[in-house]
Amino acid sequence: MALLSRAPVPALTRRSGPYTAPPSAPPQFGRHIRHAVAYGPAPFSAAVAAVPRAPASRPLSARPARSALACHAELVVAAPSKTVLGFLGIGIMGVAMTRNLIKAGYQVVVWNRNPDKCKALAEEGAQVAASPREAVAAATYTFAMLSDPEAALHVALRAGDGAVAGLAPGKGYVDVSTVDAATSRTIASAVRAAGAAFLEAPVSGSKGPAEQGKLIFLTAGDEALFTAVSAPLDAMGKAKFFLGAEGAGANMKLVVNMVMGAMMASFAEGLALADKVGLRQQDVIDVIGLGAIAAPMFALKGPAMAKRAYAPAFPLKHQQKDMRLALALGDEVAQPLPTAAAANALYVAARRQGLGDSDFSAVLEAVAEQQAAAGQQ
Ligand code: NAP
Repeated sequence: MALLSRAPVPALTRRSGPYTAPPSAPPQFGRHIRHAVAYGPAPFSAAVAAVPRAPASRPLSARPARSALACHAELVVAAPSKTVLGFLGIGIMGVAMTRNLIKAGYQVVVWNRNPDKCKALAEEGAQVAASPREAVAAATYTFAMLSDPEAALHVALRAGDGAVAGLAPGKGYVDVSTVDAATSRTIASAVRAAGAAFLEAPVSGSKGPAEQGKLIFLTAGDEALFTAVSAPLDAMGKAKFFLGAEGAGANMKLVVNMVMGAMMASFAEGLALADKVGLRQQDVIDVIGLGAIAAPMFALKGPAMAKRAYAPAFPLKHQQKDMRLALALGDEVAQPLPTAAAANALYVAARRQGLGDSDFSAVLEAVAEQQAAAGQQ
């Protein structure tokens, strides 16, 4: 969060212990960065000082994690080999994240709509549940990694065997799917009505970071649950932020992915234009990689795009969903987003071409099709 920093920001590091204020830190900490625990021990520069807060002084494991709501039971801090975790949604991200929980020593109960996707994890030690409710009932804390708002709502709330039906005081539900704030608040209400705690925790990072345990969690909701699931989050990610009331994590994720979607669309247009004027696309990728607009995403995706290969790491249908949700957020607050709207139109066109399950870099095909159509006129 360089924008918040006045002093040099140390490299991102995995959180290895409780957050304690470094000696150089000011006595007050901004609400939005008080859990910006991604940074290492040295200068933690807090430019925003809105909410005074004493730093934690005892190890997390020694402190009972109190819920924000008085009606919640105390939450036990999750620990490998002691805590059973649930995981709903074993897609591209879910399988990799669950694998890291198993590797870290957690007992994991998994559920997926298509049960075939659970088979590999079962061989690695996961139990397979027959319904979301069964998984949640068997676990203390359950993570859900589902495709979109409709799926997240359906799995959580569906009558009879939905996830919420398995919740009880002392349990927690952590939705790591990318959804809009309204969806997150609806699920939060239902979870709390069951006496459990809720955390939204959408992730920044794709298939590779999920496999490497290097995701970035953008969390909001019940802070006590954030504390209780810190160790599992650390098993799956390299950084985690607690941003406040639910909705803040969802909004943060949409902002980030809106920028990413526009970047990728612009990159695709650049590659297409370069091709049109006789430049080698790989040369474009190399030149961009050496300058101020270099981005890991361009370096990672560019060479495959030049070969028109789009093996899915982040399915295009999900990128378009994120653009759609970001545009709706802009509408809500009367924020014009013309660049995002133009990029969204390209992702919609790519979906119409049947590329929804391809990687989102396949937006290049929508650009190419429009280029070809323009050439025919
Ligand atoms: P995915 O491979 O398409 O997996 C989607 C999961 O949602 C699958 O488990 C799928 O079950 C399940 N699902 C979809 N509709 C459902 C429904 N109606 N009922 C029950 N389950 C349903 O997607 P993913 O890449 O793992 O992404 C999952 C979420 O993470 C999305 O919100 C995405 O935006 C976000 N995300 C993805 C990435 C990435 O790079 N891939 C990065 C950050 C965030 P089935 O297997 O039965 O279809």
